[in-house]
Amino acid sequence: METAFLLLGGNVGDREKCINDAITLINREAGTVTQASALYETEPWGMQKADKFLNIAIELSTKLSALELLDVLLNIEKQLGRERNPLIKEYESRPIDIDILFYGTEIIQTPRLTIPHPQLQARKFVLVPLCDIAPEFIHPILQKSIMTLLNECQDKLETVALKPYTL
Ligand code: ADP
Ligand code: MG
Repeated sequence: METAFLLLGGNVGDREKCINDAITLINREAGTVTQASALYETEPWGMQKADKFLNIAIELSTKLSALELLDVLLNIEKQLGRERNPLIKEYESRPIDIDILFYGTEIIQTPRLTIPHPQLQARKFVLVPLCDIAPEFIHPILQKSIMTLLNECQDKLETVALKPYTL
């Protein structure tokens, strides 16, 4: 069994339903969701004129390997109607994006998978939700806690807690 932390987010359609549906599917197909942050509304990062996102961080207890987990999560994104446009290389608007932030303390750098997620320390929309559920977790490369990374983060984009999320 391994503990993974995931970030879910979307800015298209019924954002809250997408997150609820994603968590239901993750529980069914990937393991057991053991913690969830509050639900946050966040300003789009690296996109111009995009709608705001809903984001949530969750803790998952899983028997899957990191690569098996990635495949399951990409499949769940597809089931929830995410279509990747291969012509668009930048950040896109999307109904649901599921990223693996940490997989235990593993460091993975392969073409398909980078763990810890490479830019998480630069993004308040990741650190703020993650700090709800794992403030003391130590980033295996940076060797700092999530709380410390959040205190040091220069990102000025707004993240607003909307409500608690009940699993
Ligand atoms: P982004 O999340 O950066 O907007 P996508 O969701 O379109 O981009 O993901 C593109 C690819 O990123 C996925 O097909 C996957 O192979 C790769 N990837 C690399 N590291 C991770 C990670 N830690 N979590 C999720 N996907 C990852
Ligand atoms: Mg992604």
